[in-house]
Formats: sequence, C-alpha cells, structure tokens
Amino acid sequence: MNTRSITRDSAHRNGTPRDEGEDARRAQLIEVTIDSLAEVGFVGTTLAEIAGRAGVSPGLVAHYFGDKDGLLEAAFRKLAREVATNARERLALARTPRARVQAVIDANLGPENFDKRTGTSWLAFWGQVLHLEGLRRVQTAYQKRMLSNLRSDLRRMIPGEAARSLAAMIAAMIDGVWLRAALSEWQEADSESARALLTAFVEGRLRELTRSQAVDGAELAPGGAPGRAAHARDSIRVINPATGEELAELAVDGPAQVDAAVARARAAQKSWASMTGAERGRVLQRAARLLRERNDELAELETHNTGKPIQETRAVDVVSGAECLEYYGGLAAGLAGEYLDLGPKAFGYTRREPLGVVAGIGAWNYPLQIACWKSAPALACGNAMIFKPAELTPLTAVKLSEIYREAGLPEGLFQVVQGYGETGRLLTRHPGIRKISLTGEVSTGKAVMADAASTLKQVTLELGGKSPLIVFGDANLDDAVSGALLGNFYSAGEVCSNGTRVFVQRSVRGEFIERLRARTVAMRVGDPLDPATQVGALISAEHMQKVLGLIARGRAQGARLIVGGSRLTVGALGRGCFVAPTVFDACHDDMDIVRQEIFGPVMSVLEFESEAEVIVRANATEFGLAAGVFTNDLTRAHRVIAQLEAGTCWINHYNITPIELPFGGVKLSGLGRENGRAALEHYTQLKSVYVAMAGVEAPY
Ligand code: NDP
Repeated sequence: MNTRSITRDSAHRNGTPRDEGEDARRAQLIEVTIDSLAEVGFVGTTLAEIAGRAGVSPGLVAHYFGDKDGLLEAAFRKLAREVATNARERLALARTPRARVQAVIDANLGPENFDKRTGTSWLAFWGQVLHLEGLRRVQTAYQKRMLSNLRSDLRRMIPGEAARSLAAMIAAMIDGVWLRAALSEWQEADSESARALLTAFVEGRLRELTRSQAVDGAELAPGGAPGRAAHARDSIRVINPATGEELAELAVDGPAQVDAAVARARAAQKSWASMTGAERGRVLQRAARLLRERNDELAELETHNTGKPIQETRAVDVVSGAECLEYYGGLAAGLAGEYLDLGPKAFGYTRREPLGVVAGIGAWNYPLQIACWKSAPALACGNAMIFKPAELTPLTAVKLSEIYREAGLPEGLFQVVQGYGETGRLLTRHPGIRKISLTGEVSTGKAVMADAASTLKQVTLELGGKSPLIVFGDANLDDAVSGALLGNFYSAGEVCSNGTRVFVQRSVRGEFIERLRARTVAMRVGDPLDPATQVGALISAEHMQKVLGLIARGRAQGARLIVGGSRLTVGALGRGCFVAPTVFDACHDDMDIVRQEIFGPVMSVLEFESEAEVIVRANATEFGLAAGVFTNDLTRAHRVIAQLEAGTCWINHYNITPIELPFGGVKLSGLGRENGRAALEHYTQLKSVYVAMAGVEAPY
C-alpha cells in the first residue's frame, strides 16, 4: 500500500473530523476526485458526486474549489506535483548525466504511475487539456520541466542540437509508452518493461550519437561507454545510495596529479625495496591492527558509501582487508628465490624482485577489501602502489592510505588518485607504471589490457562472471539453499563470483524451490545501518535500473517469478536504490537473465537431469570466474569440479574466499590471481643469476 492510499483510506474510515485544517480537507477532496475520475470518468465526476463520496455538502466543495474546473485543476496539479517530487528524489540520487536522464524516465514511468487509479485519472485529464485553460497550464509546466531536465543533462553528453532533439524524442516516447499502456488497461506494458524499452532506446541513440561525434573528431570517453562521453568531469559527487544524501565532493585527478604521484612513488620505492621483508611485514602487521581497531568506524563509512548492510561490512569488509595485510605481512619475510646446482663449475640462483611502481584500479562492490587485496601483496613484495578506487566508492581507500602512513609506511608508497575511467586510463598508459591490477567489468579489462600493451605492462584482471552453482539430488538441501542465498543475495547480489545460475537436479527441484522461496521471503531488506538488515541498497540509481531492466526481460522471456521482482519503495526505502531479492524458476539457458551478469539480487534456477548434461550447460558461457557443487557423493564432487571451467570452486559451500586460497578467473573472467602465494608471483619478477666457480673457457 502506498502513502497515497493510506491517506485516502484513513480519510474514508475516520470521516472528516471537524477540527481538521483546511489543507487536510482540500487534500481529502482532491483524493476523492481522483478516485471518482478513475471510477466514473470525467463526465461522471461532478461536484455533487465528489460531495457525496466525501460525505460533505456540494456547497463545501464549491467553497474550496469554486467549480468543477477548479477542482479538476487542483487534482491535476497534485498528480503532476507527485511526478515532480518523485523526479527530484531520483535526481538527487543520480551521480552522472546519464543517471539523471534515467531518473527522469523512471520518475515518469515508475510503478506509482502504472496503477489503474492514477493512470485512468491522468487519461481523463489529458482528454480535457485542450479545452480547459487551467489544465493546459499544469500540463505545459509539467512538460517544460521534463524537457528542460532532459536537455540540460543530455547537453553534458552530446552537442546542443542533438541534445534538444533527443530530449524531445525521449519525452514523446515516455508519453507514447504511457498512453499505450493506459489504453490497454496496463496489459501492453508494465512499469519495468516500459522503462526497459526507454532505456534501450536512450542507450542506442547515445551510442550512435557518441560514435558519430568520434567520427566527427570529438573524443570519446575512455572505455567508450554510452553516457560516458567526454565532457568536463572535474569532480565526483559521492552519494549514499540508500538515502540519496551527498557524502562528499572530491576533485578528479588529471595528468599532472598522476605524474606527480608516479614521481613520488618512484622516489620512495627503491629504499622500501631495500628493506628486509621482515621490516616491510611489520608495517603491514601494524596497519592490520589499526584496521581492526577501526573496524566499526570503517564499516560504517563503507555502508554509507555502498549501501551494504552494516552486519556485512562489520563482519567481512574490514576484517577481510586486515586478514590480507596480516597474511602478506607474514609472507614478506619468506620471499625468496631458488638455488640451482649447475655442477662443480657454477651455480645459479634466482632473485624475486619487485616490479617497481604498480597500480591498482578498483570496482565499487568491495572498495576497502579490494584496496587491501591489491596493496598488501604489492607492498609486501617491495613495490609502491598507486590506487584508483571506483568513482562511486572513493572514500575508504583514502582511510587505508592514512592507516598505512600511521603504521609507518613511508610517504609515496601507497597513494590514492581519484577519478573516473579517464584517471584509470592515465595509470594504464603511464610509462612509469609496471603493472596494473584491475577489478572490474570484462569490457574494462579488455580496454586496460589494450592500453597496457603500449608499455608492455603486466596485468592482473579480476573481471565479471555468471557462475554455475550445481545442486545434485543427493545434496543436503538446506545447505544447498544456504549456498544459493549466500551466492546470490550477499551484498545485494553485487559480488563477482556469485552463483547466479543455480542448476538443480530434477528429483529435488520442487523441494529446493519451496525451501528457497520461504527463506528468501523472510529476508530483511532495509536501512543498511540497522544491524538487523540483511539486504541493503544497490550501488546507484543507474545500476538499479540495469537490474530492474533485466528482471523485466526475465519476465518477458518467460521465466517464472517465484519471489521479489521489483524495486522497494515503502517508506524511507523510496529514497534509495532497493530491489527485492528475486528468484526466477523455469529458466532456460538462452534467457538474458541466465546469460548476462546482472550484479544484483537476482537468482535464476534451472533444472537438469544428468551429470554429463549439467557440466556441458554450466560451461556454456564466456565467463569462468567461479563454480560450486553441492553433493554428498565425494567422488562425484571432485569429478565434476575437475571438469568445470572456472578459476575458483567450492564443494558444499559458496562464496567463501579465505585469503590463503588464490582467487581469480579463466576465460573472459580474468587473468592472474589475487590472494594466496600465487599473488606474490604477480607482484615480483625473477632475476636469474649465473655464478661461475671456475675460469672462463673461451674459444677465441
Ligand atoms: P568497471 O569496469 O566499470 O570499473 C572498474 C574500475 O575501472 C573503476 O575504477 C573504473 O573507474 C575504472 N575504469 C573504467 N574504465 C577504465 C579504463 N578504460 N581504463 C582504466 N580504468 C577504467 O567495473 P565496476 O566498478 O562497475 O564493477 C563491477 C564489475 O566488477 C562487475 O563486472 C564485477 O563482476 C567485477 N568484479 C570482479 C571481481 C573479481 O574479483 N573478479 C570482484 C568484484 C567485481 P570509474 O568507476 O571511476 O569509472
């Protein structure tokens, strides 16, 4: 029930108290008018009808609104104001021009406009706009506001003329989609599919326009993503995605700042590398202690910035970072090459040496953890690291750099640069940087690798996934359901290794779905700062729209929605980016929700019969990050795991990432490994030394 219907119901229930203020009575009469328009249409909505419904005299209605036209104008104004408020709230959450355009689309096509009552009254008003001056004024103001919002944001992405015409097209499509939906009595489209349609249209047009801009000589943004076209982006607005509150505004670092950071890092790295591993390790251990001491404060900051529940960030994000620093702090002293016996006249040895200045580029889902996972092995091995957090989550990496300094890390060895993909690109192309470790999307990984090629940098790429989680009929079903929940809804599904394709053997599918449904329905979505909340907000309005668009596609392509499936807007949740944990059953391998990484709380359940069949289907993806198998047949577990094309696997568990185990993907999910001893190889290079123990025999 939305707030509007609560107001209306209570007004009906309680009658109109004599001491109620004028505003409340006017508001009640307006609600009754909207009810009347929805139920008996424009002609049937008369002052007498309204008075009868509200239980007051027609004279009182006339007293407040004059005549029917006045009442209708007030009611129309109220509906238009609701859309405007909705748009304002969404715009406050949007961080980029593209997200602001989406906010306008969503405000106009949101679920609150797609109910019969609101839609039918809008239709009644539209029918009269040409005849009633008052309604025309409201309609014109509402259209002007929408167009000017769209134009001003589009202008930040594409040239003025193109922006004006695209804004007009978007406005026309919003009206058209809405009108068709209303005329079909909401059979032709729902809010989500309407928004998905508009989103696809806008993406397509922006792609074409930015491409033609590039052809015309204008520069495309690095990565070439639509809506990220080149424009002055000299600051980052950091927003809490659960509330829309602005947390900070940061300056973007450009070429001069990146050059200076590299110079500082080079100056500091040599003496850091010449310290013993034990000395370096002690600094990391001290930093780990400080992280643990500040666990709650850092967790709170991470929750504010990411929207993840505090019960997760307190237990995992900071702790996992600290464990990583402890682990590599311990390994630092043990870094060694090998001795090779080359016979009586020589021996050889290898030295494991640092690379020099390296860069880390982080994704937004585990900002502090990613910064730790990259910097700890880099520093332990004697490198300096320059780290660029994702533009959406730039805050905790700065805290980590302060902690390193406090722990005794000399200046310049861990520096944070802030910015968008453009700043990342300054790092990937910089000749003074020897290696890039990226966590991000596959397309970013490809762009980084291509850029790194010009200076032949090493790369570690931790990219996306669409991992299979296989439940055999003999599995402990409760454990399998727990694994599926952990592997889909932790961090609101924003985890790269999530097992989003849940293959369940036919014999247990019904039972599995039943238990899964019951436990998903019971999950608590809410204020991320509330310790009882289990699912928080998604990272941004833009990302939420992507997730909702894929949910809509899942429905349209015939997947059966078991639970969830929509944005949550009740009460304070309406200010943020909350999506209900969603389970689809009866999925097929070729559906978009089964093929594409969603990075949100959306699980797809697929049925299988035989082991051989499920292995082929599990591997039928371009990704290869992770995989899980639930079975009580030990032999089968190992046999199946051996055949799965994935870098990180679990047997009878899911998404556990102890720092000792290397983590990373195969196929398009990445290159190289983080964590474990394996990461040391990616932050060092070998020097081979031949030592002669006898004279030099030369034929000359
Ligand atoms: P993106 O690829 O959009 O961004 C990752 C980082 O790269 C950001 O800091 C981004 O900057 C930067 N960047 C973007 N373009 C370039 C470029 N051309 N050159 C250099 N740097 C660039 O990923 P998201 O932040 O959206 O993260 C979600 C993705 O990360 C998902 O696909 C997920 O699967 C993956 N991921 C993988 C993990 C793994 O370990 N395999 C773990 C966690 C997430 P900015 O944000 O400022 O634009």
